[in-house]
Amino acid sequence: MSMPFLKQLLNAPGPSGNEIAPARLWRGETESFADRVWGDVRGNSYALLEASSGPRVLLAGHIDEIGLLITHIDDEGFLSFAGVGGWDPTVLIGQRIRLLGKQGDVLGCIGKKPIHLMKPDEPQPKIENMWIDIGVRSKEEAQTLVRVGTYGVIDSTTYELPNGRVVSRSLDNRIGAYTVLEALRLLAAERPAVPVAAVATIQEEITFAGAYTAAYDFQPQVAIVVDVTHATDYPTADKKLRGEARLGGGPALAVGSVNHPLVTQRLMDLAEQAGISYTVKINTDSSGTDADAIHLSRSGVACGVVSIPNRYMHSPNEMVAMSDVEQAAQLIALFVRSLKVDEDFVVR
Ligand SMILES: [Zn+2]
Repeated sequence: MSMPFLKQLLNAPGPSGNEIAPARLWRGETESFADRVWGDVRGNSYALLEASSGPRVLLAGHIDEIGLLITHIDDEGFLSFAGVGGWDPTVLIGQRIRLLGKQGDVLGCIGKKPIHLMKPDEPQPKIENMWIDIGVRSKEEAQTLVRVGTYGVIDSTTYELPNGRVVSRSLDNRIGAYTVLEALRLLAAERPAVPVAAVATIQEEITFAGAYTAAYDFQPQVAIVVDVTHATDYPTADKKLRGEARLGGGPALAVGSVNHPLVTQRLMDLAEQAGISYTVKINTDSSGTDADAIHLSRSGVACGVVSIPNRYMHSPNEMVAMSDVEQAAQLIALFVRSLKVDEDFVVR
């Protein structure tokens, strides 16, 4: 695992619908160990380890992150915007923003009426009443830098905390795209019997477009989806409802719904044999991950969801533990190596 590469990947802006920057980095890194690396018309990136026969395995992690889109520029050059993906509006208030401008990045900040000037019962603003201030004096000046339709993300950099913990705005789910890359790197060093591709999918946060198209194109029989899940090890978290996922407690393995029972059982058995700790996550209906699209592809795909516990989801300061990422990558590699060429996951 390479922290400089991971930081570069996490810092690259890739809001859903404009994932070009992190996707290029991901393809560049996989070229050093995959047999073949390519991108598709929707922006998905693939890295393949070839094998002549056996079930085709897809390892999917979405590379997009939640972001912003400029919707209007007023006469004074203030920018209105819409959220791309599931924002908590209170999180946006007072943030610094990096806009992917016409000639390069443009910095700005989300303005806020000072508390001194708010009426006692005045509510906090909704996104449609917020604005981005990029320091210009007019609409014309703003239009030299950005336009309606310019994307943005929170302006922040990744940093490391004790106990191998990493803080970044884009861990959901750049860390999943990184985990499948690292799993494929392990598999390249000790090859499986079956063909396996990692894919960095686009637009999971808004449309699942990347998962639908990648599964249709690659035609896997088996897929492992890596995403983040809510950690429940911070004050106020509800363990009774959300399970015991904790930073450093290993990946969460999902049970139920889109998760194929044989895939889930195999993941748990392999984890126990290898001494990899894990927690169990319950999916009573959809999984809220790319697996919701992939398991439906063509005549069905046997899916398993491996999740990295993440604190403070959809905020500028999401937090994961790197030991969970390493263990998830190791477990996925063990799973793929356990597959035999004549194996299928037909329920008999
Ligand atoms: Zn998300």
